[in-house]
Amino acid sequence: MINNEEELLNLTTISFGNVEEEKADKISDKDEEISEGYDKYEDLDSENQENQENKNSVKIEIDIENLVERTYNSRKEMGKEIKGWASYLGFNLRFGTREEYLVKEACHKSTLECNKKYCPFYLEFRTSENSDKYQLFFAWNVHNHALKNRDKASDITPEILERINQLKGIAKNTGKLTEAINKEFNKNFNAEIIRYQLKKIKDQDFGFISDDAYTLVKMFEEEEKKSHLFFKKKLDENNILENFCFMTKRMEKLYTHFNDIIVMDATHKTNRFGLPLLDIVVVNNLGQTCTVFVAFLKNQKFESFLWALNEFKNFIDLLVTPKSF
Ligand SMILES: [Zn+2]
Repeated sequence: MINNEEELLNLTTISFGNVEEEKADKISDKDEEISEGYDKYEDLDSENQENQENKNSVKIEIDIENLVERTYNSRKEMGKEIKGWASYLGFNLRFGTREEYLVKEACHKSTLECNKKYCPFYLEFRTSENSDKYQLFFAWNVHNHALKNRDKASDITPEILERINQLKGIAKNTGKLTEAINKEFNKNFNAEIIRYQLKKIKDQDFGFISDDAYTLVKMFEEEEKKSHLFFKKKLDENNILENFCFMTKRMEKLYTHFNDIIVMDATHKTNRFGLPLLDIVVVNNLGQTCTVFVAFLKNQKFESFLWALNEFKNFIDLLVTPKSF
């Protein structure tokens, strides 16, 4: 509970800061700001039951230690991970203002704010002069409301699991599925927990993703010996399959005949493994497009495409001998 009135006043004032940077300043500007903030607070209080809850609750600090060292490759990745993390702890975050570029510091700045009205909690992430990766730069670690008690993964009963299994093909997305489960079983699961259950069910149905990679490589290597199909793979330092590409004998034939125009395109992670797929097609004598080269890539970065296209080039160099004029 609130220890003294001043603490409550501080809290109230902070909550009214519209721009993050102003929040800190406002505490020092007590006299004017507090009374204004407090009045507003009282007005809204009578209007809205939710605010009553805010007024009666205390400052809640959460453990953000584990965020300090972490870095994120993009704003999107950061948002996804941090929102998941918050939701797990019982509150929701949304992006604050649009991403800003700070000229003096030569970095990008993005904030995530608590979704609860008038809650001052926010996290500020920045890239740095030397790195495009986002890292926690500042945290206003105070919630003025109670955090939701989430049900844990251990609260998933066999009945709930069975229901998830039944609904997995029907529900539009994981969010809707979570909603349905929560309603039916009177629970408060977070979508991340349901997503994890879905993954477990998938693993049971289709085998583990890591097993798939192993089986795939083995299959291609055997096929390579048998039919001399073209297959190249790239492993990382931990022996994890990063990229692979192949061209079957039939693809070879098609390419040898119809290599006047080649078209390439990548799909964006539409498969179970979340890997971008690069495929190269040619147009045959009937005007049909035929796939002649397939590559699964770790990401859609320059290096990955370079790797795949180099492999493609190495291979077709062996195939097509220059015609004499
Ligand atoms: Zn909050």
